[in-house]
Amino acid sequence: MERAKSYSFKSKAPRPNTIAREIRNGRRWKAVSKLKRSMNPVCEPCASQGRTTAATEVHHRIPIEQAPELAYTLENLVSVCSTCHGAIEPKAGDGGGHVISQS
Ligand SMILES: [Zn+2]
Repeated sequence: MERAKSYSFKSKAPRPNTIAREIRNGRRWKAVSKLKRSMNPVCEPCASQGRTTAATEVHHRIPIEQAPELAYTLENLVSVCSTCHGAIEPKAGDGGGHVISQS
């Protein structure tokens, strides 16, 4: 039995999530995020609330999925702690070893 296929995709471009994952795993991204944290070692959302928390992660204002061309642009990056990052992105859909539901 064959399911009817009604894809509405217009092009064969790689899926955005694939691009985002490749960027996040890439050496260039690791270098840029390290650079960002060396420039802004304090979590920016925490700092705006008067707290001083070490930034351990870097957040994209505009997600890679939406604008992969801005993935390495410092103006698009925010230094964050893991707590703030989790709050900003409640479900980071990169499938990077988090809980994956099994059936
Ligand atoms: Zn924070």
